[in-house]
Amino acid sequence: VERSLVLVKPDGVKRALTGAIIDRIERKGMRVIAMDLRSLPRELVEEHYAEHQGKPFFEPLVSFMLSGPVVAMVIEGHRCIEAFRTLSGATDPVKAAPGTIRGDLATDVGTTVVQNLVHGSDSPASAEREIKLFFPDLA
Ligand code: ATP
Repeated sequence: VERSLVLVKPDGVKRALTGAIIDRIERKGMRVIAMDLRSLPRELVEEHYAEHQGKPFFEPLVSFMLSGPVVAMVIEGHRCIEAFRTLSGATDPVKAAPGTIRGDLATDVGTTVVQNLVHGSDSPASAEREIKLFFPDLA
């Protein structure tokens, strides 16, 4: 089975949508195998989003991720990386299809960064990197 790193971003925690998001993950047949609520250190956020360094939305993205606690989790299931991204919907909440987490629950708040409730690893290589970063003790 595959694993993926999922984050409920600060907007999701503030709006108390963590339960609704976990519910969708579990109803889809995926399991949460590690989880906690935490305030992220800046270095971790910058490392996590290293591929976006230098882009215009990088600083706003980092500040957004530092604006409140996140719920970090590792999920497990058959092809769960792709399954969770399908469940999340498009990055832009306005374009995300109804039925998806972002399509149903996120709105375009019109700031410099897209506040889209969740993060999910985008490939097996990023999943491995991100799980090590957020859950170094996980076997
Ligand atoms: P995530 O990695 O968070 O699951 P994603 O893979 O859909 O989202 P990425 O392209 O990796 O999107 O971008 C990471 C995050 O940066 C997005 O989820 C969003 O919050 C923000 N972001 C991405 N592109 C833009 C943009 N053009 N303008 C503002 N914010 C953006």
